Amino acid sequence: MASAADKSGAGTANGSGELDALIIGAGFSGLYQLHCLRDKLGLRAKVLETADGVGGTWYWNRYPGARCDSESHSYCYGFSEMLAKEWEFSERYPQQPEILRYLNFVADRLDLKKDIRFKTKVVKAQYDAAVNRWHVTTEAGERLTTKFLITAVGCLSTANVPKIPGLESFKGQWYHTGLWPHEGVDFRGKRVAQIGTGSTGIQAVPVIAETAQHLTVFQRTANYSVPAHNAPLTPEFKKYVKDNFKEIRRIMNGTPNGHPFVIEDRSVFDVSDEERERIYEAAWAKGGLQFRAGFRDILLNKKANDTAAEFLKNKIRKAVKDPKTAEILANIDHPYAAKRPPIDSFYFEAFNRDNVSLVDVRSDPIEAITPEGILLRSGKVHEADIIVFATGFDAMTGAFLRMDIRGRDGLTLAKAWEAGPRNYLGLQVAGFPNMFTITGPGSPSVLCNMPVPIEQHVEWITACIDHMRKNGVDTIETTPEAVDGWVAHVNEAANATLLPEAHHSWYLGANVPGKPRVFMPYAGGMARYRQICDDVAAKGYEGFVMT
Ligand SMILES: Cc1cc2nc3c(=O)[nH]c(=O)nc-3n(C[C@H](O)[C@H](O)[C@H](O)COP(=O)(O)OP(=O)(O)OC[C@H]3O[C@@H](n4cnc5c(N)ncnc54)[C@H](O)[C@@H]3O)c2cc1C
Repeated sequence: MASAADKSGAGTANGSGELDALIIGAGFSGLYQLHCLRDKLGLRAKVLETADGVGGTWYWNRYPGARCDSESHSYCYGFSEMLAKEWEFSERYPQQPEILRYLNFVADRLDLKKDIRFKTKVVKAQYDAAVNRWHVTTEAGERLTTKFLITAVGCLSTANVPKIPGLESFKGQWYHTGLWPHEGVDFRGKRVAQIGTGSTGIQAVPVIAETAQHLTVFQRTANYSVPAHNAPLTPEFKKYVKDNFKEIRRIMNGTPNGHPFVIEDRSVFDVSDEERERIYEAAWAKGGLQFRAGFRDILLNKKANDTAAEFLKNKIRKAVKDPKTAEILANIDHPYAAKRPPIDSFYFEAFNRDNVSLVDVRSDPIEAITPEGILLRSGKVHEADIIVFATGFDAMTGAFLRMDIRGRDGLTLAKAWEAGPRNYLGLQVAGFPNMFTITGPGSPSVLCNMPVPIEQHVEWITACIDHMRKNGVDTIETTPEAVDGWVAHVNEAANATLLPEAHHSWYLGANVPGKPRVFMPYAGGMARYRQICDDVAAKGYEGFVMT
């Protein structure tokens, strides 16, 4: 292995220099993984990235209203107090440009960009058992060889544009929120049709409504939302964050979801109806994702969940003046937080504007797109100049399966995952030696404030590679038995919660036609998961074979 980082830029293609580690993706995950392998272990490591800059999610998602749902003081790296002290977020929930600036600040501060090759999409990766190396091919046809292959491709990075017949005939413009044009979109004087009311759609509606001539929102699945109560951070809060860096991280690392708030250890039924209402009102006034932290059983017990759900539905009915619109918005068919729980800035209030209307496509589905707009099954056409697809992502597996990844004996990842993703700890797939997947399916990932699981995975992978190096181990590969055990545990953890009850959720792959319905993230909680991974390492990497 190389003893120091290659200083020649990201140019070790075409066999001019074999890599120790190749990382795919330059978002939160890829940046930290590069830093750990290059600067802590001294490996020759490179990142390949499709985009022409760092940032991942925050590079691609530039839609109106795009911002973080995690609080800014928690949505950042925790591995370096130096970075935390040098950077200051301006708002409780930073907007996309600010998070992108933050990730560029980190990349520059750690001098990472020289080892990232931008505008380079990986299309194929093939394991060669004879030499115990991965051969990675880019879209431009270049081939790189590496010992370790690490995917940092993101859980929500493959845009899902629904295949609606007639889209190609549409006379206007259409955009997916996850592939938003860098120059922005001018909605002035335009009739806009927005399809999708998940977290992204809920962020976009109030902002698009400010300038569009008319905005028609097409809702298939009604959704809960809690106000973000976003605001600039006060100097006192900024000081608190810097002074209490370690304590805030300790709390985040100890909670099931990596957020900086603690879930109360009480049941919904430990308190009187009046007291429960008071607790919900206080949580509503505070705003944000911690609404669910008032009670421990909101995601475990349907009756407990119903109390939160009813409270939130009543808030919708109060916010929206037109009773028919309010009822369509409040007609929610899944438990609160069983789908990714959105937070908003005046989403429901936007429907009180004269230039915003709602279409219920559950009762009258979209049939086709015509040159003029959107045709419903009833025959009604909604004319539009611009269509915005806020339809989310081929989540968790999409970015993997768009590449042709082949492990031992030519086994394709597509074949290994044909019935849904199967791996051990969300970190490794049997038959794919020396390949690690950061926040892969089967890990807590999207159920958390993601910098926490990302850092945990990167640090675990780094320690594992270091262990291999120190012990003269060349190959690490998980076993089919370990995979079977982990998949069973992931299912068991999901089934202990209400999460699988949102049948149309992307957690289950249900937003992509034909995708296997498997609950993908690990619902057992981040703190418990960390302990399991630590125990596996302490027991000599139990469940892996090292040769
Ligand atoms: C709109 C939106 C809002 C979000 N808000 C929050 C939030 O509030 N809190 C939270 O915790 N999480 C949030 N997330 C999740 C977010 O994805 C993670 O927090 C985090 O940014 C993931 O970082 P990552 O590096 O793992 O993946 P990403 O940021 O997705 O980066 C993956 C990178 O891999 C690259 N890539 C993929 N395939 C290839 C290939 N074949 N070749 C080369 N490059 C490739 C992509 O171009 C991308 O740049 C949000 C996601 C979205 C989409």
